[in-house]
Formats: sequence, C-alpha cells, structure tokens
Amino acid sequence: MAIERIIDTVLHDDDSDEQIIELTLRPQTFDEYVGQERLKKNLKLAIAAAKKRGEPIDHVLLYGPPGLGKTTMASVIANEMGVGLRVTAGPAIERAGDLASILTNLQDGDILFIDEIHRLSRAVEEVLYAAMEDFKLDIVIGKGPAARSVRLDLPKFTVIGATTRTGSLAAPLRDRFGHLYRLEFYTPEEIAKIITRAARILKTDIAPQSAKMLSTRARLTPRIANRLLKRVRDYADVNGDGIIDTVMTTSALNMMEIDEAGLDPADRAMLLSIIDNYGDNPVGLSTIAALTGDETSTIEDFYEPYLLQIGFIERTPRGRRVTVKARRHVGRQD
Ligand code: ADP
Repeated sequence: MAIERIIDTVLHDDDSDEQIIELTLRPQTFDEYVGQERLKKNLKLAIAAAKKRGEPIDHVLLYGPPGLGKTTMASVIANEMGVGLRVTAGPAIERAGDLASILTNLQDGDILFIDEIHRLSRAVEEVLYAAMEDFKLDIVIGKGPAARSVRLDLPKFTVIGATTRTGSLAAPLRDRFGHLYRLEFYTPEEIAKIITRAARILKTDIAPQSAKMLSTRARLTPRIANRLLKRVRDYADVNGDGIIDTVMTTSALNMMEIDEAGLDPADRAMLLSIIDNYGDNPVGLSTIAALTGDETSTIEDFYEPYLLQIGFIERTPRGRRVTVKARRHVGRQD
C-alpha cells in the first residue's frame, strides 16, 4: 500500500509506538472485552465445561475482517483458561518442520493462536490437522531407504485460528474446529465504550460527546477506534490543553479528512471513480482494484466489508454496485 491510511485495519509492524499502545489497550478478560455477546456467551460455556472436565477447550476458528478483536479474544481465552498462549501466523510457518518445533514446545493445555491460518501451505496444513485430531505428530527421520516414520505424542493443546475468509480454508482443516465464529462489526455504542475505556487507560480526558462523534467514524472497528483516539489525543495535546472536547475532535477529524461515515479521501475517490465510470452498473473486483491500484484481496478483505456493512456497496452476481446511499454521501445524487 502506497500511503498509510488512518482507517487501515492492519497493525503496522514497524510502528512500535502503535504496538505498545495496542498491548496496553488489549482487554484481558471477558468483562473487559466489549460486544460480540454471542461469541462470549458460547465461549464462556465452553471454558466452564472444559475446566470442569480438566481438559483443554475444543479448537476455535474466528473469522471476520481485521481489527475486530480475534487476536484479543485468543488472549482472553488463554487468560480465562489460565493457560499459556503461543502466537504465530500462517505465513510464518513455512515448512512442516517449523510447525513440528512449535507443537513439540507446547505445554499441556496451551493455546496456539494462528493468525491468517488460510495462508498455511498445504503440507503444513496436513500436519496441523492430524495433530489437532489426535495430538500426535508423524515425522520422518533419516533419508532414503533408511528413513523411518516416528509418531510423537503431543501435549493436549487448543488451536485458535483466525482468518478473514473461511472459504479459503481447506475443508479437512476447517472440520477440525469444534467452534466456528464470525466476528461482527461493533455498534457505534460499543465503539464509544471502547473509546472511553481506552481514553481512561491512556489517562486522557474525553467528553462523552466526542466519544460519540468518534464512534461513528471508526468504521465500527476497535483497532481504528483506538487509532483515531490516539490521533485526536495528539491533536488536543498540541493545539489545546490535552482535553478531547468536541471542538478539538471536530478539527482533528477535519484535518484527517475522515467524514461522518468514517470514509477517508481514498474511499471517496474509489466510490467516485466507480460512479463516474460505471454509473449504476455492477463492477468486477479486478476493475475496482485497477481503479484504486490495490490488490483485489486488499479490497475484499480490508476495505469492502465495512462499505458492505453500511450499505454503500452491494454485491450482485455480476460485481459490486455503488448504492444510492453512497451516491448521496459523495454528492452524486440529489
Ligand atoms: P484482529 O486480530 O481481529 O485483527 P485485534 O484483536 O488485534 O484484532 O484487535 C485490535 C485492537 O482492538 C486490540 O489491540 C484491542 O485494543 C482492540 N479491541 C479489539 N476488540 C476489542 C473489544 N471487544 N473490546 C475492546 N477493545 C478491543
């Protein structure tokens, strides 16, 4: 991606300040974790049952757009279970041997969180689902005619997988998960709660009206909510006395060019170019990608889910169509 966007839902690895803030703001318990009530209810039950039996909980697959709290939920589960958490990601496990070394280093009951689990290679996937099934690891020792297969016992562990799309997960792997949950976008009220909580942790004064203003601009996504809060806090520190009131919030949002719907200039430019070039007609994802210079997967995983959620784009069998609501928003409809 050429320019950094405030509404970006990914965490920037090179921004250590942002990483530290993420860690400080990350909820530790179900009580601190705002929203996703259905998910919490089901997981609380699963955890209580597992604890009673003295077993680990069944493997969990969490899916949905980035920034909605999948990694956070994995650490809440580990915390509530009182077990260790090992965090990794699909692209980081290149070979079956990498996975074998992770698995053999787990302790009984540990949780292995695999972000972007849909990006595991087929070979690694196969080792993983065999291990998830019966907590055994088959490895081949030696080469050529002397090679022999050894079966190792693994500790009983729980995989929590996170993915933006379940569709790209191989069926045998998907079937190994006892719990499959979709994370939903948050309501503005929940986002306001998250902002107020984050402000309290960051020891920043925020007027309730400002939290409310920010809650509709954060694309219903906690990661963006926290990032917006941080930017407005910087603005209020420099241009005022650090207190986030409505005046500070309004001017900071204007400066960032984030509008009432949470769109940034790049979103608006994308909508306008679709409208101006294609009007009412559905447009293919690759055409949109060509218009914006993004990868199709970036649009599909990062930008589009929110625009679909707020009804600015609709999916048709022949592509994406910009809705009347969106046309009104960008001033192309009376
Ligand atoms: P994902 O793994 O889905 O990309 P994360 O779990 O990394 O998202 O969440 C991003 C940040 O948003 C976290 O650091 C946390 O501070 C905040 N966050 C996510 N979900 C919640 C929630 N339910 N309540 C409060 N804060 C949250």
